[in-house]
Amino acid sequence: MKNANSHIPVDKLSPRRLMCLDACTRCGECQNWCPVYSLTENEKVTPRAKIKNLKAILKAQNGFWGLFKSEIPPDTMSDFLTGLYECSCCNQCHFVCPSRIDTVELWENVRAAMFISGLGPIPEQRTFCQNLVKYGNPFKKEQSARADWIEDGLQDGTLLQRPELITENKASVLLFIGCTATFDEKVNKIAKHTVNILSKAGIKFGILGTEENCCYGKLRRMGDPTFTQLAQKNIEKLNDLGIDTLVSACAGCFKTLYSDYPKVGRQKYKIYHLSEYLDMLIRQGQIKFEVPVPGQVTYHDPCLLGRHNNIYDAPRHVIEAIPGMELVEMERVRQFSRCCGVGGGLKIANHDLQEAASVRRIKDAEETGAEYLTTPCPTCYAGLLGGALKAESQIKVIHMAELAARSMGINK
Ligand code: SF4
Ligand code: SF4
Repeated sequence: MKNANSHIPVDKLSPRRLMCLDACTRCGECQNWCPVYSLTENEKVTPRAKIKNLKAILKAQNGFWGLFKSEIPPDTMSDFLTGLYECSCCNQCHFVCPSRIDTVELWENVRAAMFISGLGPIPEQRTFCQNLVKYGNPFKKEQSARADWIEDGLQDGTLLQRPELITENKASVLLFIGCTATFDEKVNKIAKHTVNILSKAGIKFGILGTEENCCYGKLRRMGDPTFTQLAQKNIEKLNDLGIDTLVSACAGCFKTLYSDYPKVGRQKYKIYHLSEYLDMLIRQGQIKFEVPVPGQVTYHDPCLLGRHNNIYDAPRHVIEAIPGMELVEMERVRQFSRCCGVGGGLKIANHDLQEAASVRRIKDAEETGAEYLTTPCPTCYAGLLGGALKAESQIKVIHMAELAARSMGINK
């Protein structure tokens, strides 16, 4: 990273975001709710401190005193960098801010400017971005390994049938698997459950297999401008498939495709998160949950699905449709759901902090007395699994697709 006086290219910040800086009244409400601050009590991460530091840097570099090459105190820049990158971009601060500052849009806009200037991200995140572009996935795996979960599933019987490749057999529905459910061995059962559910429901769908690309959402979160070019390529490829529906079982891929891609290009298909799609199929009678799954379950709202995309009810409808399941809510849910820490590059910037955030969320879940903790996102699922292990918790972390599959009599 460059030194404290390297310039943040102010022309790369949108005027709207710059105006937001003056909307902060320094009330401190964001500090009361920030999941990272609650663990570290490090004020640098709070939006209040980030905005104050950013204003000081921009004034020193671009204001009147900037003409005389005034120096920025080194602490101001390093505090700002810590705050900017040790943040899970959970969007909680936006929902509690009385000025309704679009905080995460601001952080992502600033991260993009920092990336161009070379001031950010932190070295581990920059290496992560380079590897993501090089390998086309965050796991540094070859593209051919995207089919491994299919062969494994067919061999051990966890996959009911080989999913059709959409490039060979046209279908109107594409199941977009996503890198985490493809490559993470602790998590790839989610891909198998999802394929099994759609197959049993009689949906004519296809997957891309080794032709699937990363959504590259993590590049956007980190401010890497390569995102735009790679997203554009993905949009062209997906449009060429002639599909009318894309289903994603990952909150991260869904957020990227649904909220970020429209800023890059037009997509000629509807995008559903798996929980919305299942909810729709249940209402249409195409999915019937017949096998009871007895027990109490509590639900973790992924930030990228809930606060970022306003999807709170569909996953709850799916849970409530499962016979025998009783949904018991945690104290902090929906707009106020506590982040499990895996987003925004925090896991790469500070793994211990991310793990502590997941442990904290496990404690929330334990307080409900539920036997199960479910979520419809592979990345949150992986984070919460790690949190449960670290906390030596008895709670059973289970992805929503697994609950649905059990109630359909598959993968008991
Ligand atoms: S809640 Fe909003 S207005 Fe209050 S300190 Fe935080 S960012 Fe500023
Ligand atoms: S986005 Fe979340 S982690 Fe980041 S500052 Fe806001 S509340 Fe804290």
